[in-house]
Amino acid sequence: MKSAITGYHQDAELDWVAELACGHFQHVRHNPPFAHRPWVTTPAGRESRLGVELECKKCNLGAPADQRGVPRAVVEGNRQRTLELMQAIARGDANVIAETCAEDGKLHVMGHTLISGVYSKAQIRQFTDSILNAFPEGLHYTIHATTAEADRVAVEATGAGQHVSGKSYVNHYHCLFTWRDGKLLELKEYMDTEVVTEVLCGDVRPI
Ligand SMILES: [Zn+2]
Repeated sequence: MKSAITGYHQDAELDWVAELACGHFQHVRHNPPFAHRPWVTTPAGRESRLGVELECKKCNLGAPADQRGVPRAVVEGNRQRTLELMQAIARGDANVIAETCAEDGKLHVMGHTLISGVYSKAQIRQFTDSILNAFPEGLHYTIHATTAEADRVAVEATGAGQHVSGKSYVNHYHCLFTWRDGKLLELKEYMDTEVVTEVLCGDVRPI
């Protein structure tokens, strides 16, 4: 199937990629003697080919639409923001958390404990206050590993603190942060829910 060129971008190796009307991307390299497309090396050349139709093999295969890669600097920025946010959560810094969270940002505490559920930005602020009530000396996260890709950052961490009840709290987390334009869109917290129930919820379970 043929599809018209609607735009261009460069991939991570700075090779030119044509964006097609069908939603697919196709490399248009100038790599003599293997590929001869000198037009792709100049803005005027690229513009002159807008609207030109290319044969799209991905259409023939029924492939899903391609998406532009997220620049490495943005991915690393998300990783850095994630680590800073975890430190803010650990010390119960509601202001940093409020600044970081998008207006439609959400916290999703997984599982079926008393504190499980989805929290809005306003509720996240209350949740932060409750961290300091539960852990007067704050929590401490030990970060074991981070994985950053596109708009998502996954963090393996151990959280520990002295609960106000006198019990020691140690839990293992796998948190997934989703970012949009430098703001937190969603945080999903996966952890050992038995420890949450025992220490944070005083052994009380939802009815
Ligand atoms: Zn296509």
